[in-house]
Amino acid sequence: MTKNELIFNGNEKQVFSTDDPTRVIFRYKDVTTAYHGVKRARFAGKGALTNQISALLLGYLNDNGVETHYISTIDEREQLCRMIEIIPLEVVFHNRIAGSLASKLGVEDGMKPANTILDLCYNNDELGDPLINRDQAVALKLATYPELDLMYDIVRRSGKLLTDLLHKAGIELVDAKFEFGRAADTGAIIISDELSPDTCRMWDEETGERLDKDRFRLDLGDMVASYSIVLEKLKNVLETE
Ligand code: 5GP
Repeated sequence: MTKNELIFNGNEKQVFSTDDPTRVIFRYKDVTTAYHGVKRARFAGKGALTNQISALLLGYLNDNGVETHYISTIDEREQLCRMIEIIPLEVVFHNRIAGSLASKLGVEDGMKPANTILDLCYNNDELGDPLINRDQAVALKLATYPELDLMYDIVRRSGKLLTDLLHKAGIELVDAKFEFGRAADTGAIIISDELSPDTCRMWDEETGERLDKDRFRLDLGDMVASYSIVLEKLKNVLETE
């Protein structure tokens, strides 16, 4: 597989085309951003960690009947993925009400509701990724109703699989953001972005310590050390699966 030109240069990732039009290479950067790019810093080793954690989580979903874009790991910072047509929507899965949802609803950060919550957001940086409803998403031709049903089903199944897996590793999945695309090879709707402590809140079940990007957002320090803990715990649990 030959790596060709840069087709997307994001805050935390780059995407390169390859000689196969159905395959791309994802490269994870050492950069971390928050609050829609307002806060930004470089952390040596961070890209290698998000690459490895994402490979483990996406690979686990692939192995358990949820299709994702992840194919294989190339090296410390890069992975081979399926090319997709982007669907500019995000579905956020919440086991707890934390972060912006806690602020919006005026409840204590980390409140545990009896039900899981799924939020549909319009992936649009200029608008700040606002909540959008199904009718609005269809009206903007971002997705069809059946595609939205499928995305919700994928998120419910993935949320459960990841919650259970992380629990075995002593980590609570607080929330997780899923992005989707239409695969260039089969046309299927698949998960098409990373899953890592950059995109999911993960708390240590014993200590309650935050092991995710909130360490950067809230200036708690030790972000790279926390991501390393997540990786080690995940590797240990997947070895015994
Ligand atoms: P919040 O709405 O509290 O910012 O985020 C809810 C969850 O979705 C968190 O796990 C957060 O990391 C993830 N999330 C939502 N939007 C984004 C985004 O634009 N970038 C990243 N990296 N994560 C996001």
